[in-house]
Amino acid sequence: MERKNKTTDTAKCVHCHICREACAFLSKYGIDIGDADRLNELAYHCFLCGRCSEICPEGIDGRGVVAGMRRDQVGQDNGAFVNKKYKRMISEKKDYLYRNYRHVTKGSILFPGCNFPSLYPRTTKALASLLREEAGIGTVYECCGKPIADIGMENQEKVITETIDRRLCKEGVTEVITLCPNCYGYLSGRISAKVVNIYEKLKELGLGCRIKGGGLLFKPCPDREKEEWMTDIAFFLENECGQAENIQCCGLGGNAGVLEPELSRAFAAGLKDYPGAVYTYCGSCVGNLTRNGCRQVRHILPEILGTNEKPDTAKSLINRMKTKHL
Ligand code: SF4
Ligand code: SF4
Repeated sequence: MERKNKTTDTAKCVHCHICREACAFLSKYGIDIGDADRLNELAYHCFLCGRCSEICPEGIDGRGVVAGMRRDQVGQDNGAFVNKKYKRMISEKKDYLYRNYRHVTKGSILFPGCNFPSLYPRTTKALASLLREEAGIGTVYECCGKPIADIGMENQEKVITETIDRRLCKEGVTEVITLCPNCYGYLSGRISAKVVNIYEKLKELGLGCRIKGGGLLFKPCPDREKEEWMTDIAFFLENECGQAENIQCCGLGGNAGVLEPELSRAFAAGLKDYPGAVYTYCGSCVGNLTRNGCRQVRHILPEILGTNEKPDTAKSLINRMKTKHL
């Protein structure tokens, strides 16, 4: 079927229900993206996974529609709702509490983001040492700002991005190596430095080993449409993986799990009983799926680096806090 150009004009909706049938959140409330008034009331229940945007025959970008609604709501109530509901997250990430620029280097830097170091502290340290020793690449511990952007805090989002950009420019950073597809997608084009993924860099430097693969591959939401990380990741897999199709989102997207904890938990059910390994390449996905019973989920990076580290879901906050002092 021919798709039309992307739009956020919900008046173009023909109520074919294709988005509703593909989305657990829309089907729970019996609405389409075109039901703008009701969608606006439920904007913080959406996982911002983008599935509706991919499949709408009228080209309606549901994720963009909801993101716009959230920004408008923050503008209307001066952030009162988000400040109440996402207080802890905002206080941590608005001016990132655990940032650490002590190991910054000119040229390239490793940018682990918040989630990977929370779950894989040993692998993070091993990777930072490897890149420093093999290529003189330093590390910056920082939050990219996407969690704040996702809840619609447009002004704060701009401050975060501009501050990161200014700081990296001042340090002479020209390349940012990301471990998380959220950081990658969010920072690309927003900062002056070139943003690349870790698998591309490991390949370029001849580091890391190929892993068996096989099993299933769960693609994180930010990489679903463009699959920009996939070619580089495929290089490290000896056996091709099948795609984990029957799971909409890991359950953390859009911070919707705060208002939709049951849906967030239920997403994991699509993978729980799979008998083999399920590979993915987003720390948030591994964390949420593991917490919800998918013990066979593995992040590709520790496997490639041979650290054999399991996600440390019990001490994720403590691990993140420690990045300030590395
Ligand atoms: S898929 Fe597009 S046209 Fe169909 S109901 Fe959803 S938003 Fe409307
Ligand atoms: S972005 Fe995802 S959760 Fe939100 S309405 Fe679209 S399909 Fe549903």
